[in-house]
Amino acid sequence: MKKKVIGIDIGGTKILGGIVEEDGTLLGIKQVDTQAEKGREFILSNLFKLIDDLIAEAGKVDAIGVGSAGKIDCEKGIVVYATDNLPGWMGLALKDVLEDRYKVEVAVDNDVNAAVLGEMWLGAGRSYRNIMMMTIGTGVGGAIVIDGKLIRGSHWSAGEIGHMILIPRGRQCNCGRQGCLEQYVSGTALYKRYNEISNSLKIKNAKQLFELYKHGDEIARKVIDDFVELLSISIMSIRNILDPEVFIIGGGIIESKAMFGAAKLPFA
Ligand SMILES: [Zn+2]
Repeated sequence: MKKKVIGIDIGGTKILGGIVEEDGTLLGIKQVDTQAEKGREFILSNLFKLIDDLIAEAGKVDAIGVGSAGKIDCEKGIVVYATDNLPGWMGLALKDVLEDRYKVEVAVDNDVNAAVLGEMWLGAGRSYRNIMMMTIGTGVGGAIVIDGKLIRGSHWSAGEIGHMILIPRGRQCNCGRQGCLEQYVSGTALYKRYNEISNSLKIKNAKQLFELYKHGDEIARKVIDDFVELLSISIMSIRNILDPEVFIIGGGIIESKAMFGAAKLPFA
């Protein structure tokens, strides 16, 4: 019988979970809202609920793999650092917590590191050995693969492109600095920028912004044009450092790629 594992992706907005066979066949997928603003215990209880539901569906599993936003010590399975996108998450021994509860082997890594490994196994990264992956969702994450090997850095923070300073003395970031990339090109930044320009609290997520864009809203068009420009600048800078064969872009925003993909690329 083929081995079965559960794969989990913990983001600031939702937690996604899948049951996967050892050959990569996806048997089922579920998601819950992270409800991150309610803090660590709440996020954990949502995570447990999701895993319980997946196990109820899959039966016994052989292992659980978790990708979480933040800097993760993947040897110990500890969250070394997390911003307030996941309040209270920093310091959590997530591997131990899950192994105690589920009595199976658990691996924990940064969410984008986990994503790029998946892309190299079965996705967009299959034929490449030098990859830059970016995820654009609640925040912005990155993962670097050179010569087929994931680069983790000396403090588990290689590829943390969301906190590259893009605009000197720019918007306050929840990492403590100002002007970070994440404050300009994340899903959160996009909808907040719309509300800022329109001086309203009209929209609550990036999905609504893309809906407005689709219906010809001028402010939405400006916000998305600016987003594409800043994303292009970021990609150019990263290219100059890493010279990868391919950029893979993922994250919640990518569901709307048909819209911003059509915007003019200033540096193409
Ligand atoms: Zn930052």
